[in-house]
Amino acid sequence: MGQNNPPPPSPTASIRRSTSSGGGSGSIILEKYQLGRLLGRGSFAKVYLGRSLDNSDDEVAVKVIDKASTVDAAMEPRILREVSAMRRLHHHPNILKLHEVMATKSKIYLVMELAQGGELFAKLHRCRRFSESTARKYFQQVVSALRFCHQNGVFHRDIKPQNLLLDQNGLLKITDFGLSALSEQKKDGLIYTACGTPAYTAPEVVYRKGYDGEKADAWSCGVLLYAFLVGSLPFDDSNLSNMYRAMHKRSFEFPDWVSKSAKLVIYKLLDPNPNTRLSLDDLIKLSWFKKSFSQENLCSQADQSPRSEFLNRKDSDYLPKVNAFDIISMSSGLDLSGLLEAEVNSKEMRFTSVLEVVVIEEKVVNVGEKLGYRVEKGKGGGIRLVKGRAVLVLQIWEVAIELWLVEVKLVDGSMEFGVLQWGELKSGLGDIVLSWHNEVS
Ligand code: ADP
Ligand code: MG
Repeated sequence: MGQNNPPPPSPTASIRRSTSSGGGSGSIILEKYQLGRLLGRGSFAKVYLGRSLDNSDDEVAVKVIDKASTVDAAMEPRILREVSAMRRLHHHPNILKLHEVMATKSKIYLVMELAQGGELFAKLHRCRRFSESTARKYFQQVVSALRFCHQNGVFHRDIKPQNLLLDQNGLLKITDFGLSALSEQKKDGLIYTACGTPAYTAPEVVYRKGYDGEKADAWSCGVLLYAFLVGSLPFDDSNLSNMYRAMHKRSFEFPDWVSKSAKLVIYKLLDPNPNTRLSLDDLIKLSWFKKSFSQENLCSQADQSPRSEFLNRKDSDYLPKVNAFDIISMSSGLDLSGLLEAEVNSKEMRFTSVLEVVVIEEKVVNVGEKLGYRVEKGKGGGIRLVKGRAVLVLQIWEVAIELWLVEVKLVDGSMEFGVLQWGELKSGLGDIVLSWHNEVS
């Protein structure tokens, strides 16, 4: 990116400015955000409230990673994974959005959506345990977000209440993708690094056998649901070998207040054998899970939040003028630029639909043909629309039960494809759209 562009105006000034005050409260980063109070401390970072200097109503959370104090070279791939995972998962209401990445010689800043409600863990602690309906409400949001992750090739692998945050509307947001393994790193379909937090981690992960990230996340969901309903962990022994023995024997007990159907869900998820363990795809079909599940609820809450306009702006709106990637590439050792490049340049439109995939596809084919596109069906089931040099690719994800996110991406021919063409497509597709999620610039 920007190889042929003139050098950015004095990036060194920004570097000095952002490092001089230590990157903590009160400092201004890249002339864009003022850092406020400390929101939380993670295992390798501090997270501050950040306020946009242009508009003080725009609040964000800024995760500050000090490169010097984290000498561990293993940290860099971890950050890369986090950035890359979060960027791929922008469009789910229960996944914390990453607005931008900035780096200086000594620090890395991840500017994220603010989750004002704090950690779900703190809430669980305060309430001791959740009622079945509250537990289910949070559980549904976690499962819905995880399925979306899995469909996009990301496995979280560190699902626990500390990594579940709440926004100002009480909507759950999954964060901390630091440990997630991208599916590209799978060899023969299985992941090989052991990670996660022992009490929440599936036994096959601990034993460092290759494992299936989807099934490992399903295990963690079982532990999570247990923790929600009971207020303690199913397996909790400071002696790890005792703990793993308990996992294998499935020896955990339920107090009386847990309903029979909730017990069964947990029991099926906490199956030490990943092959017979309940998958998330089957989980969502269970009537216990489906009860009072309303997808519209999840999405409309997100859309109505006062900052939704800010949150839904195109990612490229967040790129600072003195380009973060220019700075990143000057900072030693870590180059994030390649990760984000494609998205910065991409042109796409996104909308949600409650219609079946086949209906959406049929509509796109009809509209495409009417507008004079050649319609090609890809091997993987995707659809491409081609006219002249313009090539559009359609992708559909099931973001939740009966809710699909449709993305139409212009992958080639941006010279021939402008506002007019987007407009034609948009009006053609209008009647299958539940809501638009970005406007094409
Ligand atoms: P680490 O990856 O180092 O564990 P986390 O991303 O988990 O760091 O963040 C550490 C803590 O900071 C969280 O547990 C939470 O309390 C707080 N925090 C993180 N992100 C946000 C956010 N977007 N909004 C509000 N608080 C946050
Ligand atoms: Mg964390």
